Amino acid sequence: MSSHSWQFDNTYARLPAAFFEKATPALAPAPCMVLFNERLAAALGLQFEGDLAALFAGQVLPDGAEPIAQAYAGHQFGGFTMLGDGRAILLGEHVTPDGVRVDIQLKGSGRTPYSRRGDGLAALGPMLREYIISEAMHTLGIPTTRSLAVVSTGEQIERETRRPGAILTRVASSHIRVGTFQYAAARRDVENLRVLADYTIARHYPELADAEEKYAAFLRAVIARQAQLISGWQRVGFIHGVMNTDNMALSGETIDYGPCAFLDSYHPGTVFSSIDESGRYAYGNQPAMAHWNLTRFAESLLPLLGDNEEDAVATAVAALNIFPELYEAEWLMMMRQKLGLQSTEDGDPELIEALLTWMQQTEADYTNTFRTLTDPTNKNADFAAWHTRWQERLSRESSSPTEQLALMQAVNPDVIPRNHLVEEALAAAENDNNLAPLHELLAVLATPYTPQPEPSKYHEPAPASACDYRTFCGT
Ligand code: AMP
Ligand code: MG
Repeated sequence: MSSHSWQFDNTYARLPAAFFEKATPALAPAPCMVLFNERLAAALGLQFEGDLAALFAGQVLPDGAEPIAQAYAGHQFGGFTMLGDGRAILLGEHVTPDGVRVDIQLKGSGRTPYSRRGDGLAALGPMLREYIISEAMHTLGIPTTRSLAVVSTGEQIERETRRPGAILTRVASSHIRVGTFQYAAARRDVENLRVLADYTIARHYPELADAEEKYAAFLRAVIARQAQLISGWQRVGFIHGVMNTDNMALSGETIDYGPCAFLDSYHPGTVFSSIDESGRYAYGNQPAMAHWNLTRFAESLLPLLGDNEEDAVATAVAALNIFPELYEAEWLMMMRQKLGLQSTEDGDPELIEALLTWMQQTEADYTNTFRTLTDPTNKNADFAAWHTRWQERLSRESSSPTEQLALMQAVNPDVIPRNHLVEEALAAAENDNNLAPLHELLAVLATPYTPQPEPSKYHEPAPASACDYRTFCGT
């Protein structure tokens, strides 16, 4: 038995029955701890002792847990499907000593009523991958779900080959998605839709609870949060890879790390996912896809947006039309910061585009280019011309060069989870039971903005052999 300090208060499980099904974690033959996030546990006010593996494998349920699988729908690569947690079980909502409410979810803990033809299981590699990338996104300062633990289950699961099974404990502000609203809307149950909207407002946008035209304000607030989120992704070169509407959280957190990966050389068309043949979710397409998803969200909200369809559509369209401008403003502010700029000048967009164009033409490494902008050793003539222009622009700032450098170092990471290093760490863990490279990687990623004392392998772009890097859903 483990002692801990869970404070469960499971509000989602008190929603109407249509929103979830009871579920029980499957038997895990020999649970074994692989990773445990001590700092996150401490931040959540959780102290553990005893059999952690049994706990995080769902074999011992903490007091107050009420395991359920959540219902949702979603557009997957554009096609609408009824889905639901097919391989995840929500244990409940833990309320931290600071009063913060978080979902505690086991991912890979066996079949649920929504599993369809799936086995409800997850392989160790992809769960470790989610742990690494989600924790890196957190230290990079981007809203994200977190990872508390990974356990191996002792079971071999059937994939392309047999692979060790594992369970990830995911911590999220909530798991309410655009797809949750699509689910309610698809059932044409306006009362449940209203209950879900009120619940989501109370949980994530409490300042809107008494707003006039509350649901329109809710829609606009969700849109604004997504604009900020996607701008954060673009800042660090993060490519989500599977931005289906069921993978867009209304909290504004990044959720569901499947075939995600980071840009090496800059190209807006970059796509890593093997199943994304058309490049729907390519780096440069992410803002447009967010807008598309938000349009699906607005559609599902229509019954709440007006007394008649015409008014509701007008309200939705007005809100959606703000997204491009809002995103552009977020993006410009973010890019200015990457260049050390705090003031605004009309020529800034052109200055930024010129750098991006140069990077694309020369296949420059996205992370390293921004990190070494102040380093004058780049001998490329086009870059030198751009650099002079940029220095002139900087000289018109009221901030000092020291302040400019500090700003740049706070938004341009020194290290990111380079795809080839992530793969190396996962291979060592999965094939050789060697967790050392993974721990080393996690340690470096814990402070991604702190300049490393020496250039290291963490700064090196992928070797040529990794150019065709492909990610797989790895379900
Ligand atoms: P994802 O691509 O992880 O966002 O999953 C899309 C949908 O497929 C969700 O409803 C998942 O619950 C479901 N799913 C993915 N993998 C499995 C699996 N191994 N067993 C059952 N359902 C799964
Ligand atoms: Mg998903």
